[in-house]
Amino acid sequence: MSTFLGMPVTAPSGVGNLRGDRTFPEAAHDALADGQLRRNLRHATTTIRGKSGRVIAELPDWQELRTAGSAIKASVLARLPELLEQLEERVVAAGGVVHWAADANEANAIVTDLVRATGSERVIKVKSMATQEIGLNEALEAAGIQPVETDLAELIVQLGEDKPSHILVPAIHRNRSEIREIFLRAMPGVDPGLTDDPPVLAAAARKYLRETFLSTRVAVSGANFAIAETGTLAVVESEGNGRMCLTLPDTLITVMGLEKVVPTWQDLEVFLQLLPRASTGERMNPYTTMWTGVTPGDGPQSFHLVLLDNGRSAVLADRAGRAALHCIRCSACLNVCPVYERTGGHAYGSVYPGPIGAVLSPQLTGVEDNASLPYASSLCGACFDACPVKIDIPSMLVHLRDKAPHSRMERAVMRAAAYTMNHPRLYARAQRAAKLARIAGRRGRGLPPPLSSWTTARDLPEPPEQTFRDWWARR
Ligand code: SF4
Repeated sequence: MSTFLGMPVTAPSGVGNLRGDRTFPEAAHDALADGQLRRNLRHATTTIRGKSGRVIAELPDWQELRTAGSAIKASVLARLPELLEQLEERVVAAGGVVHWAADANEANAIVTDLVRATGSERVIKVKSMATQEIGLNEALEAAGIQPVETDLAELIVQLGEDKPSHILVPAIHRNRSEIREIFLRAMPGVDPGLTDDPPVLAAAARKYLRETFLSTRVAVSGANFAIAETGTLAVVESEGNGRMCLTLPDTLITVMGLEKVVPTWQDLEVFLQLLPRASTGERMNPYTTMWTGVTPGDGPQSFHLVLLDNGRSAVLADRAGRAALHCIRCSACLNVCPVYERTGGHAYGSVYPGPIGAVLSPQLTGVEDNASLPYASSLCGACFDACPVKIDIPSMLVHLRDKAPHSRMERAVMRAAAYTMNHPRLYARAQRAAKLARIAGRRGRGLPPPLSSWTTARDLPEPPEQTFRDWWARR
């Protein structure tokens, strides 16, 4: 595709966490050798899957809710500019300030300047995929501002100088003895006699975080939804840390992807039923915090909303790929994916792992920068069935595989295969040749060079004893 003036740009490189250092097959190869990681992942994903399946089965209208969620998201994308302008107008009318960030660099600069202006050298953070995507913590640290993650799993990742490996459970790759070691090593003021009993670990984090909540004047959050008709922002979470961050500080800065807007409160009702059941396997979220601008004498007295593009307009421009922006980050597709369950999230290189990461990251960055991700799937379709907003991830993966760069050799082989299949006599001869190769004992050994890389991770299908043509000819 040629570039023309006005073409939406993809997320810039050199900032943020959308690109890995290695291809998916290289990183997955190492991850597969880690038995502990695979045990942790299997246990966690099986538990969440079971819980989620039970509460979804309670709802007789689950499929209708999925259809409604999908339709609302499609309608939002169809009139995104209008809804975002309405949202901006309502937030400003309620006393907030709205900033538009074209990419990660702009968003990081806006947030850093806002924090600097408050004079605070520390911010508390609610778990947010958008701020991880843009590498906000790294940008704040570079400016001498300490970001403190307050979600327990995010805190484990931050103290361990690690990377998140799951959208909902970022420390899914860690077991409790590893968490104890991290706390002992990096948590200020921790009791040296700390055990790996989960309530003891949670109490240690709670003590550390309480002190931090009460002594920090600026908070940074993401947003699960923004309601255009009133300018209201919503964050859903399970631990109450979000509620503390969103109500205690003087200044609140929210970084939100453009696609999170919904038109009305009635639309929100659909997602508040879909999200908890699909993500944590709960009937409703333990904490749903909503706020509209600034309320004098109640909560943060200064509110800033940063609307983030960072490649989303480029995703929107692709009719076949734009449904990736319907995602409500529930992580159900990760928990059912046989590839994710074996490799874990780090192998994907991006903050968005699993099936949704395999379609969202390459579109945000441009498919050339994440060309191996659309292949990180067996195309079994489990993600499509699990998705509460019915995103057809398998079809999108095939679409992106087509867009990904292909080697000259691969293109030549595919052209030759297409030519052969378009010429019946040639095709019949190719079938006979495949049969001869089988008789000659080629079977099981993979393809010869230069085609051998295709069979390094696949079994070469055995040609049938009798082709359909032979069968037909005999009758
Ligand atoms: S693609 Fe669907 S299942 Fe996966 S995280 Fe997004 S909403 Fe959830």
